[in-house]
Parts: sequence; C-alpha cells; structure tokens
Amino acid sequence: MKKGKMIILSGPSGSGKTTISHCLLSKFPELKFSISCTTRLIRDDEKHGKDYYFLPVSSFISKIKKSQFAEWEEVYPKLFYGTLKKEISKIWKSNQHILFDIDVKGGLNLKKQYPNNSLSIFIMVNSINLLKERLLTRCYKNLDKNNTNINIRLNKAKEENSYATLFDFVLLNINLSQTKKKAIQIVSNFIYGK
Ligand code: 5GP
Repeated sequence: MKKGKMIILSGPSGSGKTTISHCLLSKFPELKFSISCTTRLIRDDEKHGKDYYFLPVSSFISKIKKSQFAEWEEVYPKLFYGTLKKEISKIWKSNQHILFDIDVKGGLNLKKQYPNNSLSIFIMVNSINLLKERLLTRCYKNLDKNNTNINIRLNKAKEENSYATLFDFVLLNINLSQTKKKAIQIVSNFIYGK
C-alpha cells in the first residue's frame, strides 16, 4: 500500500472546522475526505456514505471488536465516532492524501500513529458565546436532531481547547475568510513541501 499524507482538522463543534474542511477539499483535488462511522442520527442535510457511515451501535461495537478502527471515541455520551482502517488504505491506494475532521482525542491518536506524514491543525474560537450562537443556529435550522447536545458540546469545547497546544498549528477562527487563507497556506506547504 502506498503511504500518502494526512491532514487532521480538529477543534470544538461549531468552530468552523467543517467549513474549512470543505474549502480545503475544493482547493486541493489531491485531498480526499475521510468518511467516519458514527452512531448519531443523520441530519437533514447529510447523506449516508458521503458525510458519515451512519451505523447502529451494535455494528459499531462489532467493528471495534474486530479491530477495524484506526481510532474511535465516544465523543459524546453514547455517541460513537471512528475512522476505519480500510478508509485510510482506500484513500492512499487511490494516490490521494487524507483530510480528517475528527475530535481532538481522535486527532491526537492519529498524529501519534502517523508522526512522519501527518499535519494536525486545531481550529479555535475565542468566545464560547459565539460557539453557542453557531450551535443554536444549527439547532434552529433543525439540522441537528441530537440537539440535547448543545450544553454537552459547549462543555466539551472548553475541554478540547485545553489540548490545542498539542497540535502542529492552531488557527484562531475570528474572520472565516482569513482562516481559510491561512489553512490553505499551511496545507499547501505540507503537501508540496514548500
Ligand atoms: P458531529 O456530530 O458534529 O458531526 O461531530 C461531532 C464531533 O465528532 C466533531 O468534533 C467531529 O470532528 C468528531 N468526529 C467525526 N468523525 C470522527 C471520527 O472518526 N473519530 C473521532 N474521534 N471523532 C470524529
């Protein structure tokens, strides 16, 4: 199997990670999004096999038992998320680099497993109120049917911020277009070795 590179985007839910990941994917055709498995409910704007592989808890657990995950976490109570080993090998086999949008612990886990060919970026928001606003908007649009999560997500954000310094780069997302530019620059240097 050919070994490519991996770019790990982590940061609190609502930090703008997903928007930045879409931006990077459209800018770099050699990047491919790693589709994770999750046991959470599908949102209205999501598709199985595109945003996530949505699995019942029983099949997620069976995959854990069969050691099929490169990493997995119970990101929120009773909600599991994980990266399949075969997702990684599939992307590298297609001669592409991998883009991950995963939680902080999963991101650091992958960085540890692939220290020489990974780039880890932490997306940070400096205001918990701003984060709350973004999460509420998602909730009002009825995009998040697990909306029990807002307070859980905010508490988790505080915890996640404390891991920021363990990442290769921290981007404070105050102005989205500037954050996108910085992310493009960092990724370009990493991929093309400038
Ligand atoms: P959401 O429910 O908003 O899609 O994602 C919740 C959190 O789970 C986000 O921080 C997201 O990056 C993270 N996540 C998504 N996929 C994975 C994965 O495969 N592994 C881990 N550890 N976290 C993931």
